[in-house]
Amino acid sequence: MKIILLGAPGAGKGSQAAKIVSDFGIAHVSTGDALRANIKAQTELGKFAKSFIDKGQLVPDDVVVKIVADRISQPDCEKGFLLDGFPRTVAQADALAKLTDVDYVINIDVDFDAIVNRISGRRMCVCGETYHVSTYDKDVCAKCGKPLYQRDDDNEATVQKRLSVYQEQTAPLIEYYSARGKLVTVDGNKSIDAVYADVKDVLNGNR
Ligand code: AMP
Repeated sequence: MKIILLGAPGAGKGSQAAKIVSDFGIAHVSTGDALRANIKAQTELGKFAKSFIDKGQLVPDDVVVKIVADRISQPDCEKGFLLDGFPRTVAQADALAKLTDVDYVINIDVDFDAIVNRISGRRMCVCGETYHVSTYDKDVCAKCGKPLYQRDDDNEATVQKRLSVYQEQTAPLIEYYSARGKLVTVDGNKSIDAVYADVKDVLNGNR
């Protein structure tokens, strides 16, 4: 099973991705996570990527395409994978099409005015859990006990830039995959579990 998750920043791609990969036993391929791991390890790639990420811009296509090409050729991707945050441009989608077919493209659709609040209240854990300050007031992870942190690019100015980049460069992928008969849109304004129920319906062939 090969899946693409599309959606604006803050649409809930990461939360849905965690549930899908655990239920369906496929690999989670997140270009954002891969880039952040490189930033943390202070690699040359990480230093290069950080200059784009901190401004809310996209990292150049050739860099992320290479990350994905390397990653999906790993043995754990043989049984399937979920692409989270990739592709983000038509050029990336074209490059992906040359590497592999995909079975599902799920677009998580959220109201734009909810996004800034969602992202600016978002808190992360290194274990992959995410929280929102409106529903969780502790500063350590409920699952693993590690301290929560806020992503550097989750401040309001950068979020606004990420949203305009999404509109200009990523939203055209909705039409791209729709024209190829691959796209299914789910309503991402509901709770994480309610959205996941819809996602599961799609993946089980009920929608
Ligand atoms: P994410 O964790 O998916 O929100 O990604 C965080 C940041 O990493 C984005 O705002 C981009 O700067 C960069 N990034 C992640 N995935 C891609 C991609 N497919 N193409 C270009 N830049 C990306």
